[in-house]
Amino acid sequence: MKTVKSPFKFKGGVHPDYNKELARDMPIERLPLPGELVISMSQHLGAPAKCIVKAGDEVKRGQVIGEKNGFISVLVRASADGKVKAVEKRLGPAGSSADAVILETVPPEDNNPAPILPPLDWKTATREELLKRVEEAGICGMGGAGFPTSVKLNPPPGKRCEYLVLNGAECEPYLTADFRVMLERADRIRVGVEIMRKILGMCAVRIAIEDNKPEAITAMEKAFADIEGNVEIVRLPVLYPQGSEKHQIYATVGRIVPEPPALPIDVGCVVENVGTVAAIADAVEKGEPLLERVTTVSGDAVATPKNILAPSGTKYSDLVAFCGGEKEHPAKIISGGTMMGFAVSSLDIATTKTTSGLLLLSSRKVFQYGSQACINCGRCLRACPMNLNPAEISKAVEADDIKTAENAHVMTCIECGACSFGCPAYRTITQFCRRAKASIRARMAAERAAAAAAKAAEDAKKEAK
Ligand code: SF4
Ligand code: SF4
Repeated sequence: MKTVKSPFKFKGGVHPDYNKELARDMPIERLPLPGELVISMSQHLGAPAKCIVKAGDEVKRGQVIGEKNGFISVLVRASADGKVKAVEKRLGPAGSSADAVILETVPPEDNNPAPILPPLDWKTATREELLKRVEEAGICGMGGAGFPTSVKLNPPPGKRCEYLVLNGAECEPYLTADFRVMLERADRIRVGVEIMRKILGMCAVRIAIEDNKPEAITAMEKAFADIEGNVEIVRLPVLYPQGSEKHQIYATVGRIVPEPPALPIDVGCVVENVGTVAAIADAVEKGEPLLERVTTVSGDAVATPKNILAPSGTKYSDLVAFCGGEKEHPAKIISGGTMMGFAVSSLDIATTKTTSGLLLLSSRKVFQYGSQACINCGRCLRACPMNLNPAEISKAVEADDIKTAENAHVMTCIECGACSFGCPAYRTITQFCRRAKASIRARMAAERAAAAAAKAAEDAKKEAK
């Protein structure tokens, strides 16, 4: 194992104020069990889970309450003992609504309960047993997108993982949850890597960490000192969006992921967030499904910023109360980080498996200006790490010309926010990109549905003959 500096620098990127000092030295604290949890069936990328409980049901911590509902989907388990008060649509952190189980919690009867799943010895377990465990533990990527981990760890025929890249960059301003996990759970990350290599084959490992986290680099060096095989810790220059999957692959192994629908596995890579890797270790060795995660609660409008270990479904209001409440009325509440997060209007929203941060910002930290006309300064073109022309895309979407945005490759936009960050006209360029992408995806889905209906009609006609 060795530590190296990344030899590859991507084009573009920006340097926002990181503000990580607010929470970086706060050790992970466990939240006392809230009285009510709001457990969403849509905590991951892909089809929401199918809820299998109803109002009045009593559930146990770890019990499956939502079944996997398709290939790209993840099951959901109850994150505490309790009684189902209702199953109803609730708004999620990203602004869309999904079925959620409203659970009135009951404190655990036993402080040292039996494991939820039978613990496995990863050294003797088969690849299939380990893969099944990742699936039944309900694990998805905890870095943001929430891609089902069991799908990622099972490449399609003909594809092979040559490099397992651990994402410890955490380049989003304010967020320090991954940093604390690397400091406090380094041993679990090491075990998670061993398990993933058993599933994926003995691939090389690259642990990507930005240079502004020297303590995390030291913790990883210690934890991985005696690991076998081709393992490197790669020090990345501090540059946003260094934590993007595609940019991590380029920074660590110099490979470029082609345009969608290409995936990292198409260039022989699997990227996984450090928190997810630790969750895999717990699922296998301790039989503990993914029921809780570390979330950073920070910003200048919260009394005491913290890194909090809380069950999935914890309401933001409970997190803020645990931080001593609001220091002043927040002008903006953001679910996630300031660059890629979503502004939310209420603290009634609840955490999911992908909630890395909750920010409460005062009016001094929030732009109060409205979006103005583009002045063609070109700053967003220089900032875009995907080589796009964000100005052209934003103007096209503003004019409802989605086709032009599509021709300008908006689908390759990673929604990093680097373009909006430096725009002197305060244009909401990233939101324009999101709008275009949503519209294109909806059109594609409609086309697929129409094609499937036409084929079904054709088949029915043939059968009738
Ligand atoms: S256009 Fe997309 S990828 Fe480029 S800087 Fe803006 S948000 Fe990031
Ligand atoms: S940074 Fe803003 S003003 Fe400048 S070209 Fe891009 S969209 Fe236009």
